[in-house]
Amino acid sequence: MPDIKPTDPEAERAGGRIALWLDAEDLRRIASHCCCSDDTPEEERERCGRIRFRASAAMHKHGSSR
Ligand SMILES: [Zn+2]
Repeated sequence: MPDIKPTDPEAERAGGRIALWLDAEDLRRIASHCCCSDDTPEEERERCGRIRFRASAAMHKHGSSR
């Protein structure tokens, strides 16, 4: 059985994260929106990719839970 831990609000806060709820349409937009260009710094590209990855992962979860 996979060890799935529910989100611990305190641990998330300690990690500098905040709770954020978005509806499916917002997630879809974030997941598909990339404003990086050829001269975007690597750090910005990484952040952009991370955000889009999480948005699409959250969207996937949303879709498979119903
Ligand atoms: Zn981007």
